[in-house]
Amino acid sequence: LVTRMRPYGETIFSTMSALARRHDAVNLGQGFPDTDGPGEVLEAARRAIAGGHNQYPPGQGVPSLRSAIADHQRERYGIELDPGSEVLVTAGATEAIASALLALLEAGDEVVTFEPYYDSYAAGISLAGGVQRSVPLSFPGPGFDRERLAAAFSERTKVVLLNTPHNPLGKVFTREELTVVADLAREHDAWVVSDEVYEHMTYDDAVHVPIATLPGMAERTLTIGSAGKAFSVTGWKIGWISGPERLVSAVTTVKQYLTFTTTSPLQHAVAEALRLGPTVFEELTSSLAMRRDLLVDGLTSAGFDVSVPQGTYFVVADAAPLGVTDAVQWSLELPESVGVVGVPVSVFCDTPDETASLVRFAFCKQEDKLREACRRLATMG
Ligand code: PMP
Ligand code: GLN
Repeated sequence: LVTRMRPYGETIFSTMSALARRHDAVNLGQGFPDTDGPGEVLEAARRAIAGGHNQYPPGQGVPSLRSAIADHQRERYGIELDPGSEVLVTAGATEAIASALLALLEAGDEVVTFEPYYDSYAAGISLAGGVQRSVPLSFPGPGFDRERLAAAFSERTKVVLLNTPHNPLGKVFTREELTVVADLAREHDAWVVSDEVYEHMTYDDAVHVPIATLPGMAERTLTIGSAGKAFSVTGWKIGWISGPERLVSAVTTVKQYLTFTTTSPLQHAVAEALRLGPTVFEELTSSLAMRRDLLVDGLTSAGFDVSVPQGTYFVVADAAPLGVTDAVQWSLELPESVGVVGVPVSVFCDTPDETASLVRFAFCKQEDKLREACRRLATMG
């Protein structure tokens, strides 16, 4: 293995899902729904296969999907995109992130991220020969320190890699916070890559604001979405990236040599799914909000100190009140000892000490699974 990839072994999500299977534990680790997405979306995929959409589609993505993505961005956020040149369909958001970094970074260029950060960010930056500069993010609480963020920028800063709603913290960045990020990006002439895969999952009065909608930001921002998240079909691996033509074209060049193109029939199905309109997203959100409350209550009763998430389908729980100091070790033992799987938050961090007792649990799972997990966790105390 090349030196730059040596720190990256099996992802924590694969490790945890394997442990869940081995011990028949309730898997609240890896973030995937344990029920399929809407029936009409699944049916659209069957129809697309039966309808002969089974050969290489255009590298940029099938036109109907690119148009549906552009319409979604306009109708929901007022973002104007030319589906012909400003939208690229990718093999999940993961490919969008990696190919954007590969397209934008020269060796030694710096990328500002917030920590904790989704695991593919560090690996993607390493693949591209970049250098990561992380700024701590807290939730609940003050979010981030403006001075620390400003100090993370330098003349080598090329990209700010943002994630809102945020995995794992469940934080939704406010317009004011995004304005601070945007001002610094403009000041340092940096691109922003904004991972918004949880855009439809916000709760209570939290509102998702794409940073591309802030003044002067559309021209320097690539925005990423995922059908896996939006329609509960994570195994389909259909994602997208959109922004100014110059940037999308650079990402397209990279994508051509990673996967060339993205699964054809599923693109047709996602195009139909996006045309179903906002009700599908509202139904998903209200069902998730109910399950969030169930898990938050269960974890609180079990003795955890819980942060109620504003977005995503993850809850972060502090196990310190239960006497846990090393959540990595504790999470590795939990599937066997208690029959529940969670992910230690410190694996999303370069400086794990501050998050040493935090565990992330996913609530995109069936209600009876969540209840059973809570029942098992309650037996610990
Ligand atoms: N970004 C974040 C923040 C995620 O949590 C995930 C995990 N689903 C991804 C990107 C990857 O999305 P996809 O499955 O579409 O590749
Ligand atoms: N995004 C999902 C999570 O955070 C997992 C995706 C993966 O397994 N790579 O749990």
